[in-house]
Amino acid sequence: MDFKKMVLWGVAVMALASGCVMPQKKDDRSMLPKVCFTLDDGFEEHYLMVAPILEKYGFRGTFNVIVDRIGAKGYMTWDQLRDLNRRGHAIENHTMTHPNLVELAKAGKKDELTREIAYSAERIATEIGRRPTLLCHPYAATNRQVDECIRDAWLVPMNPHRCNFGEGTVPGSENGAGAFIRKSIDQNRRCIDLLTHGVTKEGPAWRPFPSVDVFEQHVKEVRKLYDKRVVDVVLYRDACR
Ligand SMILES: [Zn+2]
Repeated sequence: MDFKKMVLWGVAVMALASGCVMPQKKDDRSMLPKVCFTLDDGFEEHYLMVAPILEKYGFRGTFNVIVDRIGAKGYMTWDQLRDLNRRGHAIENHTMTHPNLVELAKAGKKDELTREIAYSAERIATEIGRRPTLLCHPYAATNRQVDECIRDAWLVPMNPHRCNFGEGTVPGSENGAGAFIRKSIDQNRRCIDLLTHGVTKEGPAWRPFPSVDVFEQHVKEVRKLYDKRVVDVVLYRDACR
């Protein structure tokens, strides 16, 4: 045994004897701004196309689902959502029927608000086996009363600082993810939400990407910033606490 090997053995034996763990170089990204991919409305193409692409680049998504539409034509099923959850994606609450919550609050419809916000969360918890932690407001409509109602249901209202990517998005251009991320960092944002509805024109999604290939370019653009350690990419619930 040469001298170098002897030293390494010595260090390993000492570490074992003292019960300590050898120090490891960690990929510490805790100080970096957080970027998250959120997908609204629970379309089936999120399961078939979006999740596999995110995973290909090492990312996971936050899927905000409309409970009453789960299992309907063009939308994900509970089995698909359970599978996404098992693969490390997050299933969050986008209400029961996708109403404008501010209008419900203004009309004094408290029971409906509870059904939209709290009952939907319980249903997701029962079906998925994991309680959602967030509520994503339909049409980004919110006010103080709505957000109080959301917190009463032990949910966190999602941050309105999000940009929808899809129709008209040209990855790498001034309206791509990279430009939005850099602008957000300049504004001292720590939680940067990249929203997508759909990735095919044939699907039912609002303002989708023209094709799944363009969506992949969009994800690739974020991966480049991740590799340069400009940002971390996480689930929304881990980004915006
Ligand atoms: Zn929506």
